[in-house]
Amino acid sequence: MNALWHGFADMGAVERDGAFVIARGDGAYVFDRAGNRYLDATAGLWFANVGHGRGEIADAVAAQLRRIAHYSNFGDITEPATQELAERLAGLAPVPGSKIFFTSGGSDSVDTAAKLARRYWHELGRPGKTILVGRRMAYHGMPAARTVAWDDAKALLALIEEVGAERIAAFFCEPVIGAGGVYPPPEGYLAEVRRICRDHDILFVADEVVTGFGRIGGAWFASSRFALEPDLMTTAKGLTSGYLPMGAVFAAPQVAEPFFAGGVWWRHGYTYGGHAGAAAAALANLDIVEREGLLDAALRLESSLHDQLSVLAAHPRVAEVRSGLGAVAAIQLADPAEGPALVKALRAHGISGRAAGQGAMQVSPAFVMTDEQVAELVDGFSRALNDV
Ligand code: PLP
Repeated sequence: MNALWHGFADMGAVERDGAFVIARGDGAYVFDRAGNRYLDATAGLWFANVGHGRGEIADAVAAQLRRIAHYSNFGDITEPATQELAERLAGLAPVPGSKIFFTSGGSDSVDTAAKLARRYWHELGRPGKTILVGRRMAYHGMPAARTVAWDDAKALLALIEEVGAERIAAFFCEPVIGAGGVYPPPEGYLAEVRRICRDHDILFVADEVVTGFGRIGGAWFASSRFALEPDLMTTAKGLTSGYLPMGAVFAAPQVAEPFFAGGVWWRHGYTYGGHAGAAAAALANLDIVEREGLLDAALRLESSLHDQLSVLAAHPRVAEVRSGLGAVAAIQLADPAEGPALVKALRAHGISGRAAGQGAMQVSPAFVMTDEQVAELVDGFSRALNDV
């Protein structure tokens, strides 16, 4: 039973200690094969926004799979669920009139945005604009890319001066850096980099794979909460709450226009982009978010995590706690090498957790997590930190 090669893993350690097998989930909890219960600190990999075990999504998917699982979204072909989802997402988009390009997940969404940005400038007769700019600590490592400091808008200006705006296609920006270790933006940073991009004809790409679909709290997207009006917005994860893999790129009307004007064939797409079963999962997931007021629940979690996790900052093993924007936080270990041991200690105290970035213990719960469960999380973390 050891054929599985895990992602982001020291497989030697997995071979030695065995795998942690999650067999079932219910709301903010998951269960192993023996039936032991764990509070899910991370909502899987940042995605289970509506919580685990939602039969309603399973039923919607089953009904769709019985009609047809998937066919294609290439050329003029599509499926009703996919069309319905695109219309619904366009209605939620931070820029009215956006067009929706479906993918199979977050990496595909970023890949699509990168290709789309370059092709856009090519269509506008500016083929020299090919360089993609990302921020250090962020998720992105792309070809023909440059990086700038994650927290300093002037660093972006300096790079533009160095290489020339005429060579830069797009700037990729996670509104809150997630997998790099949870870094909320400095005050005013997002508005400033947005303005710099607009002033220099550089496409602003909001990577909302983590922050999208409510995780930012109080809005569907960080781009809406901060009025960023992104030229392109990449999403995945919370689109289906992870019930099936799916991503979507939102293209603002001015970016989509050259592709919709006629005569442009964009040879890009994914076999499972717009998968009808995944679209059915997304529609059922969005119904739950709306019906249960989960955008507000994420805003409640924003303050609840900020208030309750702060006590952990005093622990000698903790360097700092980063929180305060969205239903997302990190407990930064003073010694990142202690991450794997802490993950094991957390399990002994009924918490399923993981280290992101460099020893940043990820906290990104399902929006259904109650304030009492946040207290349970903090208690488990304190005990586990004492054990390491
Ligand atoms: N973009 C961001 C900001 C992410 O955090 C991730 C994954 O965590 C991705 C893109 C890639 O998404 P996926 O793993 O679905 O390909």
